Amino acid sequence: MSVTPTKPDGDLVQLEIRGRSTEANRRAASGDPRPVQHILDRFPSGGRGRPWVDVPDEDWNDWRWQQRNRVTTLEELEKVIDLTEEERNAFEESHARFHMAITPYYASLMDPEDPNCPIRLQSVPKMGELLVLPTDLEDPLAEERDMPVPGITHRYPDRVLFYITHNCPVYCRHCTRKRKVSDPSSAAAKKQIEDGLAYIEAHPEIRDVVISGGDPLSLSDERLDYILGRLRAIPHIEIFRLGTRNLVTLPQRITDDFVYMLRKHHPVYVNTHFNHPKELTEEAFEACRKLADAGCVLGNQMVLLKGVNDDPKIVKELNHKLLMARVRPYYIYQCDLSQGISHFRTSVEKGLEIIEALRGHTSGLAVPHYVIDAPGGGGKIPMLPSYVVRRDGKQIVLRNYQFKEFVYEEP
Ligand SMILES: *Cc1c(COP(=O)(O)O)cnc(C)c1O
Ligand code: SF4
Repeated sequence: MSVTPTKPDGDLVQLEIRGRSTEANRRAASGDPRPVQHILDRFPSGGRGRPWVDVPDEDWNDWRWQQRNRVTTLEELEKVIDLTEEERNAFEESHARFHMAITPYYASLMDPEDPNCPIRLQSVPKMGELLVLPTDLEDPLAEERDMPVPGITHRYPDRVLFYITHNCPVYCRHCTRKRKVSDPSSAAAKKQIEDGLAYIEAHPEIRDVVISGGDPLSLSDERLDYILGRLRAIPHIEIFRLGTRNLVTLPQRITDDFVYMLRKHHPVYVNTHFNHPKELTEEAFEACRKLADAGCVLGNQMVLLKGVNDDPKIVKELNHKLLMARVRPYYIYQCDLSQGISHFRTSVEKGLEIIEALRGHTSGLAVPHYVIDAPGGGGKIPMLPSYVVRRDGKQIVLRNYQFKEFVYEEP
C-alpha cells in the first residue's frame, strides 16, 4: 500500500519519523511507552485499607511484604471490614477445610461496609460454603482420573494441564480446586515437577502446556525460569500458558525482573482471572502493561458467579476494561459442581443472556466463549444462544443480534 502524503507538515513528517530510527522511536520500541491519561484515568488505584494507611510505599509495592502480611485470621479481618455475624460464623466453621488468605492489596478493594461487595464475596467465607449438595462432586472435572502422573492432567489430544504448586496469594472462595489448593500435604514436590516434565518430554503429541496450580507465580522467578527453560528445550512444545491470578490479587508480583525472565521463553501466553471491573485498578493495569510490553499474549478467564458478575452490564464493563489493559476476554466459565460453591452458581440461561447481550452490541473482541467444563471430565463445551431460526432445504434462516431475520442460501 502506498501512502501519498497530502499535508507536508502532517503525514509527511510522520513518514519521515517512521523511516528513520529516531530517539523517540527507539524508546517506544524498547519499552516505557506511557498510555494516554484518559485511558489511565479509568483505572483508579486500589488504595489502602484501614490497617495499612501508614505503610511506606516501598513495603506496599513489594510483593513479598504483601505475601507476609496477608489477612489470615478473624482478628486481622475485623480490622479491615465490619464483619457480619454470618461471616464470623462462616470463618470459624470453614477455616479448617479451606483457609482464608487475602493480600492487603486485594483486601483494600473490599467495601468495609457492604457484605455483598464483589471482592468480599470472592475472598471472605460465607455460610454457603458449608453446604454440600447431593449433586456436588469432589473432583467434578475428573482431573485426578485423567492424571497419567501426579501433577499432569492429559485430557485433550495435544495439550496438558501441569500443576506446579498448590499455593495462591488469595484463596478464592469459588475455587474449583478447593480439594487441593491451600493444602500443604498436597504441595507439588520437586520430584513431582521432574516427573511431570519427564512425561511431557516423552509425549511428542503435546504441543501446548497449561501451567497451573494453585498459582504458578507462587514459585520464585528462579524456579519458574528453570521450569520454563526445561519446557522450551523440548522440541515438540510450541507454546505454554501461565494460568495466574496474581495480576488480580497481587499485581506487585509482576516485577521488571519477572517479565525480563519471561522474555527469554517466548512465545508465552498468560491467562488470568479477573471477575469484576473493580479488580482492574491502576496496579493491575500496570501489571498487564508490563507483561504485554514484554511480548506476552494476555487472556482472561472469568467465572460466572452469582452476586459478583451475573449481570450483562458488569461483564461488558469488565471486558471493555480488559481490552484497554490489552487482555483479551477468552472464556466465561459456568460455575462447576465442586463442593461448597453452590451459593455462587447461576443458571445456564444467565450465561447465555450475557453472551446474547455482548455479541453484536459490542466489539467481537469483547465476546469470550461461554463454556461448561463438563462434569465427569468431558472437557469444555461451548454454549451459544441459537442464531439459526430454521432451515428450509438449502436456505438457512438466521437472526442477528437485533432479532432481524436473514436468509443465507447454501450452494
Ligand atoms: C482447560 C483445559 C485445557 C486447555 O483448554 P483450552 O480450551 O485449549 O484453553 C487443557 N487441559 C485441561 C484438562 C483443561 O481443563
Ligand atoms: S487463584 Fe485460582 S487456584 Fe488459587 S484459589 Fe483462586 S481460583 Fe483457586
